[in-house]
Amino acid sequence: MSQKIGAPAAGTYPLTREKNRIDRATVAPPDPATRQTTEAEEAGLTLPVVEVFHSVQAEGHWVGTNAYFIRLAGCDIGCSWCDTKVSWNEKHHPPRSIATLVAGALAANPQFVVLTGGEPLIHDLTALTRMLHAAGLSIHLETSGAYPLRGRFDWITLSPKRNRPPQPSIYALANELKVVVAEPADLDWATQQAQQVPGEVLKFLQPEWYTEDSNQLVFNHVLEQPQWRISLQTHKYLGIR
Ligand code: SF4
Repeated sequence: MSQKIGAPAAGTYPLTREKNRIDRATVAPPDPATRQTTEAEEAGLTLPVVEVFHSVQAEGHWVGTNAYFIRLAGCDIGCSWCDTKVSWNEKHHPPRSIATLVAGALAANPQFVVLTGGEPLIHDLTALTRMLHAAGLSIHLETSGAYPLRGRFDWITLSPKRNRPPQPSIYALANELKVVVAEPADLDWATQQAQQVPGEVLKFLQPEWYTEDSNQLVFNHVLEQPQWRISLQTHKYLGIR
């Protein structure tokens, strides 16, 4: 089913920044020590899913491209500005079989499937990615890189977080680097991270949606440092997922 584009209210741009200003400091990430998984989850045959939806990739290199999203539950990174805190606690999201997920993706006939979260690499994605590939689907991963890579992907968006740096092995595998910028220190972090990835990796700075100064910070930096590009969260401007 297609989504209805939400027109921003005239003169109130960007209205949804206020609307989305929720529980920024009130939700604590789950304690990894208390994580419990079933045998099927351990094998990656079922995965806790927040939502699946058919839309366009709204950020980074593939912006505007027809994509089917599988948002997996589970994340203990704890970014204060996270806009998917609902995904943090796996227990709130019942597991679904990977066969069901693949069937949904196939029915949507997208250009590619995006595995996102949460932090998808909390899970072993070997079985899911194998089944998606067997169905002829291309797979993109969005990850902080904080957990080991388990699965095979056609495109990896590495979005490293200052409070939990990536596993070193992921840098060589990234296709694009996307750093969220809320304050000047994030630009220093972006510079450090750019030094870790191969030179040809695409580099994006993405203004943090809730921070009023972030657009200006990113804009100024891109003018000074031309290896960077701006990534905007276009789904929020369009009022879609
Ligand atoms: S890594 Fe992603 S899902 Fe996890 S807290 Fe940070 S922004 Fe949210």
